[in-house]
Amino acid sequence: MKRAPLMISAALASSLAVMATATTAEAATRPAIAKSILNHRGISLATTHDSGVRDKANAKQNITDTAAGRKARRSSYGTAPGGSVTLNTNMLNAMLKLNTVKRFTFRVTEVAGGSHSRGSKHYAGRAFDVGTVNGARVSTGGAGYTKAKKFMKACRSYGAVLVLGPGDAGHSTHVHCQW
Ligand SMILES: [Zn+2]
Repeated sequence: MKRAPLMISAALASSLAVMATATTAEAATRPAIAKSILNHRGISLATTHDSGVRDKANAKQNITDTAAGRKARRSSYGTAPGGSVTLNTNMLNAMLKLNTVKRFTFRVTEVAGGSHSRGSKHYAGRAFDVGTVNGARVSTGGAGYTKAKKFMKACRSYGAVLVLGPGDAGHSTHVHCQW
């Protein structure tokens, strides 16, 4: 009977520890996550578009602007609407954890920039594209296929609502993860 108060205290301490962890995770701000993405070498960020166009809306600049508390710029060619957008925090968090937790190394080819299909969620700051996973270029066969499929599954595990890749129209050489 004398041990009962101790057990309650231990249970309470355990709950408080869980709450503290959750609070810490929630406290990670958008700029802080973006800064962390920039600091992880396993996440490579393209500085040009696959189209060859050079502007301030490339993946590296999008994350750099976000880390500085600014909006990410969109491109102004093709169907891209120009202007800028706030990047989705859940998407940024997943991008980071795909490296820090899931241990993927990958190259992000587009975030808010580039020209995509009309109304693309890239323009809403809710999607990113990946062209290389664990050293293999995304493709419809071989390592580029199996690694892409694993990456796609991991994106879904972080809440991506739409994931496209090899086997899907227009995605034979890149993976699209959207929140
Ligand atoms: Zn895409």
